Amino acid sequence: MTKILFLDLDGTVRRTKSGATFINAPEDQELIPGVTEAIAHYADYVVIGITNQGGVAAGKKSLEDAIAEQKYTMQLLPQLKVVYFCPDFDGDLIYKVSCEKHEAWERHQFLDPISNKPFYQSFRKPGAGMVQKAINDLGKIIDAKSSLFVGDRSEDQACALAAGIPFVWASDWRGECK
Ligand SMILES: [Mg+2]
Repeated sequence: MTKILFLDLDGTVRRTKSGATFINAPEDQELIPGVTEAIAHYADYVVIGITNQGGVAAGKKSLEDAIAEQKYTMQLLPQLKVVYFCPDFDGDLIYKVSCEKHEAWERHQFLDPISNKPFYQSFRKPGAGMVQKAINDLGKIIDAKSSLFVGDRSEDQACALAAGIPFVWASDWRGECK
């Protein structure tokens, strides 16, 4: 069974290089100390980034910059092969970014054939939609109990709970040696 390490990004693995609160240019970011050491303990995990990017809907960054920002994080952290982000406040849009390409979907594209309601929860955390979509895209049987979600905010914790994935706070994860 496949184990997944779900990582929130801002405040969990990356921070601004400039000291600004929010990343305002794709390359204004660096890894938070301890991340490289922490992730080394998860060599047999699939590593997936899960990030709300409401800054796009708020007009603080362009969609292109948000995509470039995720790609730059993958350069800084090569174990991270794919990032899902939600750019809108309603949680209806999802982007999947890898080094090579990006894809996008809307939640209404995935309706449960019986209830005719959206198959996925809101893509915006605390909804579990991004995690659900990532698991489905992987197309493998997941060892949920051995998987982990690392985050720095209560919406990360709620997302992990809704997805049935164990949660750990980012500061603990970065500081602990397993
Ligand atoms: Mg965060």
